[in-house]
Amino acid sequence: MVPPPLKRALFASFILFISCPIVLFADNGQVKDVILFIGDGMGQAHVLATRVFANGPEGRLNMECLEHFGYVTTYSEDSFVTDSAAAGTAIATGHKTGNSIIGQGRHGQEYKNVLELAREMGKATGLVTTTEVTHATPAAFAAHESHREEAKAIALDYLDGVQPDVILGGGAWVWTPDLLEEARNRGYTTVSTKKEMDTLDSTKSKRLLGLFARNHMAFTTERGSEEPSLREMALKALEILRRDPDGFFLMVEGGRIDHAGHNNDLRWLVHEVLDFDEAIGAVRAGLGDQNDALLIITADHETGGLAVVGPGGHLPGKGEMVEVRWATKGHTAADVPIWAQGPGAEAVRGRMDNTEVFSLVKEALGGDKE
Ligand SMILES: [Zn+2]
Repeated sequence: MVPPPLKRALFASFILFISCPIVLFADNGQVKDVILFIGDGMGQAHVLATRVFANGPEGRLNMECLEHFGYVTTYSEDSFVTDSAAAGTAIATGHKTGNSIIGQGRHGQEYKNVLELAREMGKATGLVTTTEVTHATPAAFAAHESHREEAKAIALDYLDGVQPDVILGGGAWVWTPDLLEEARNRGYTTVSTKKEMDTLDSTKSKRLLGLFARNHMAFTTERGSEEPSLREMALKALEILRRDPDGFFLMVEGGRIDHAGHNNDLRWLVHEVLDFDEAIGAVRAGLGDQNDALLIITADHETGGLAVVGPGGHLPGKGEMVEVRWATKGHTAADVPIWAQGPGAEAVRGRMDNTEVFSLVKEALGGDKE
């Protein structure tokens, strides 16, 4: 019998590319849609370990097929090692802040985020994650709170503030009946299983709130049939957001890469990065030859201090886990990778700061310069 990890690898080898598909499109400089992928806690070694497992040392992941790339510094305003709240705020608002703070400064001053900017430009907006939808990274894009643990307040910020057109992920415990009622009053259709999401008549729902797990969504390796994959959620978001003729901004987070790192669990980690990369591949394919979409892929920080140290004595093959050492069960200050394609993507090169990712998105959305 073929063991499950190998089966997965054999399957993955069909859908991931050893070399990259050639994408030809004329770039006219105009941006209509912006899609930002964030691998929470995903460092360069996480990408390497996953690449080898999926395609061998000579292979590539979908994310590695993008034309422009660089690396990003991640320190926060009060800590050299950031958390997802401060890093998310830097990416979403262009302002560094203290760890644990969501979308505002250390003295409570609110910073405008890219969802608010997109909304001002008449664009649709979406947040997709494998964590609770009110978790730090998505929260930084659509809420303003002094602490990341204020989950209920963050949910209310979503509903009373920018009202993202699509919100998909876990964290149903936060959404008490009164909050769900508030959501429905604001035009949200609510779904809680993959089947409900798949069979949804999206032309009839103005906004979509999908909560597929009580807490975070399951790790990819333990996912049941009730929960959609990140790829399935991202494609549903794309389908809905594309109805807006003015374009959209979508943030897609591979949120549990970080949790696999905190657990120092390489198998969990590789499958979370694969899940993230499959979503990237599907969205890229979904964009087709669309030449006015900016696609950016990055991470908020590195988790685990992952070092790939082997195997020794032979080159690892497809489906083989590399040998690793972990330096910590927490985050590190390591720079993280960034890739981009589409109009404006040439600004992604060399060393960047996480606040510059915001500048890139803002420029693309056509918002005024501060
Ligand atoms: Zn973390």
